[in-house]
Amino acid sequence: MNAQAQLPTVFDVQRVRADFPLLARTVHDKPLIYFDNANTSQKPLSVIEAVDDHYRLHNANVSRAVHQLGEEATAAYEGARDKLARFINATSRNELVLTSGTTQAANLVAYSYALPKLQPGDAIVTTVMEHHANIVPWQIIAQRSGATVKAAPIDQRGELIVEEFVKLLTPEVKLACVTHVSNVLGTVNPVRELARECRKRGIPLLVDGSQAVPHRPVDVQALGCDFYMLTGHKMLAPTGTGALWARKELLQAMPPFFGGGEMIREVSFDGTTFAEPPHRFEAGTPNIAGFAGLSAAIDYYDSIGFEAIHAWEQQLLAYATDRLREVPGLRLFGEAKEKEPVISFLIEGAQATDLATLLDLQGVAVRSGHHCAHPLMKFYGVPATLRASLAFYNTREEVDAFVTALLKVRTLLM
Ligand code: PLP
Repeated sequence: MNAQAQLPTVFDVQRVRADFPLLARTVHDKPLIYFDNANTSQKPLSVIEAVDDHYRLHNANVSRAVHQLGEEATAAYEGARDKLARFINATSRNELVLTSGTTQAANLVAYSYALPKLQPGDAIVTTVMEHHANIVPWQIIAQRSGATVKAAPIDQRGELIVEEFVKLLTPEVKLACVTHVSNVLGTVNPVRELARECRKRGIPLLVDGSQAVPHRPVDVQALGCDFYMLTGHKMLAPTGTGALWARKELLQAMPPFFGGGEMIREVSFDGTTFAEPPHRFEAGTPNIAGFAGLSAAIDYYDSIGFEAIHAWEQQLLAYATDRLREVPGLRLFGEAKEKEPVISFLIEGAQATDLATLLDLQGVAVRSGHHCAHPLMKFYGVPATLRASLAFYNTREEVDAFVTALLKVRTLLM
């Protein structure tokens, strides 16, 4: 290898930022510092233009019309399925059901896969660190069927206690559900290991990839899971887009959940027959423009590459964590060995919401609250945290300005 090849590539964050029009705006007359990326990401111009272009030039419904525009709209929508299949390394595009997001994906698995299998006494296993979208659907179907939901514990560092998770995998368990990356702690769960343990026992594993896909390359075949859910708006794409990936044989065996147009083979009062997966699960008119945007989002990730994204984000995470430790009375939540750039914290003597409100006046957007993770808040014995979640378009200078703003608002509240 020559000396040139050994040099780390310099990540040109300013060039990247120029692709995101919103990052140039001000808030309360201050330059915006957007640290709420785990909530939703900002969108590059190419995604905004893809949506705009769709409505300007290609707008029509999918799979219904033989005219040129209908074909273009169908190509945009089905093209997104192809891109997603490659993005997460699915074996086939037919393993991807396009949804409005992770929440719809979870409910599809709940009603179509799990509910018909559940008997009184059965169980679904999840963890204490899940987003409500990976808890509540299981609770609703458990209530209906007489099954129970069991949650595997975490330790104080915010890491899943794998042995405890494995202990819960008893013969009554019909499904295990775990997040790939925690939306509050940033913890990366050992999905491969969990999938191996589930597989040994014949229990399908569902993974919530909402917070993973914006940060790391995902390979569902290498992970060895059975279902993988993602939501587009956290990965540069428009809201109302997402997907459920599932192994072909699982999708083949699942009955439809939503009924309506697009998902049938033939409708008759003598008995309706349904389309093959994935269309069986895609009733009604989808968010076609949104999926055109999602294709552009994947192209954007490809143009930068996850190696560069990951390296930059990990630098930012380490830097921000170090800088935050300078703030008096700051308590960090989530110190897992492997983390994505999500930092939850509290400052002694100050309410999270007051801090977030005052930070907003300084132009800093962070989230305060329970982050749709009540059981996790209960575990730590707090009602809320403040969460700074970073993306590859954030900078060290923004981290510095954020810490300066935090020190200032802290003194206002003391
Ligand atoms: N799962 C995780 C880990 C999340 O962070 C979120 C969103 O915050 C969701 C699920 C729900 O995603 P959506 O609201 O896009 O369906």
